[in-house]
Amino acid sequence: MRGLLAFAALFVAVLGKETFEGHQVLRITAKDEAQLALIKDLEDMIHFELDFWRGVTDVASPVDVRVPFHSLQSVKVYLETKAIEYATMIEDLQALLEKEQEEMDAVARAGGARSTDSFDYANYHTISEIYNFQDMLVRENPNLVSKIVIGQSYEGRPLSVLKFSTGANRPGLWIDTGIHSREWVTQASGTWFAKKIATAYGSDPALTAILNNMDIFLLIMTNPDGFAYTQTNNRMWRKTRKPNPGSSCVGVDPNRNWDAGFGEPGASNNPCSETYRGPRANSESEVKSIVDFVRSHGNLKSFISIHSYSQMLLYPYGYTSTPAKDQAELHSLAKKAITALASLYGTRYRYGSIINTIYQASGGTIDWTYNQGIKYSYTFELRDTGDYGFLLPANQIIPTAEETWLALMVIMKHAYKNAY
Ligand SMILES: [Zn+2]
Repeated sequence: MRGLLAFAALFVAVLGKETFEGHQVLRITAKDEAQLALIKDLEDMIHFELDFWRGVTDVASPVDVRVPFHSLQSVKVYLETKAIEYATMIEDLQALLEKEQEEMDAVARAGGARSTDSFDYANYHTISEIYNFQDMLVRENPNLVSKIVIGQSYEGRPLSVLKFSTGANRPGLWIDTGIHSREWVTQASGTWFAKKIATAYGSDPALTAILNNMDIFLLIMTNPDGFAYTQTNNRMWRKTRKPNPGSSCVGVDPNRNWDAGFGEPGASNNPCSETYRGPRANSESEVKSIVDFVRSHGNLKSFISIHSYSQMLLYPYGYTSTPAKDQAELHSLAKKAITALASLYGTRYRYGSIINTIYQASGGTIDWTYNQGIKYSYTFELRDTGDYGFLLPANQIIPTAEETWLALMVIMKHAYKNAY
């Protein structure tokens, strides 16, 4: 009976998980505006079922797109007949996914970590392993770390924030990762940041000074339903998991759901789109819970929301080309931060406002937090620039987290200096 159950479980696991057999990721480069428009037309060819990893922006920026096997031939013919240049960025997506899964299975076979010292930061982890990690960190550092649950996801998972604090009633700094669930290097880096903050307090003078005067809030699994879904069903899932009435397509883009330029160009009103904004601002509990927290806290000085990929550090705005009133300061601080980041491994970042650096995006997180008066509102897009995209190999987790930490410290130190 037990064997049968195990077999049945295996069967469900195999059948339940979407495979990407024969899918490729292409990098398409437009040489002029006319070609760019032709590439943009691909977005409307729904039957191709394309997944834009890096959307259509301007002639200078390549477009990365996952093409299912059934569309591969047609898409390549389309590009070739129009003399549009493309390269195969990922030849065999399924092979990369299987390698990633094997590495995670090896971690699981090794058994769960007994402490945050023995936790394997150089590998990707399941959602329950990360929840366990958080609880261990709290237990090990009772005078520094606590866990606060700010709400629940649609499927009822806790939105648990790690609070690093050494005193009451202090201004706060916020960091979140994983709002787009498939951007796995972000949750993995968030785990590393948590351990770093806990160990550097008392030994790193700059961080110690910050924590003697401010609290740090870290939300590692901002979209836990999506994250769980990437592990059980579809590694490429980006959105929330709330059903959309009247549509067979599930989920809202939680980075288009904030009440800042909501509904304006730069988001989709189609529930099947990867950038679907939702029926109204704050419709997603994952977003609304943070909104309520930010309002009730009332004294956050910095808000950093971490994505991947493409190596960029961005500040408001995304929904309007009107410059943020602090643009000059935000720009020079971004430059300092990416310079510190590059000092470790030479990783190069671009920086600027969202609308000028990527594209118009409405309803984004940091536009809302900035409009709430949180001046140092930034978004990171971590490694890489497209060799692996969302499937960044696990051996790049620690270097990515280390270099990003240097940039985070530049921003947090500046926010601290200007907080009083
Ligand atoms: Zn993202």
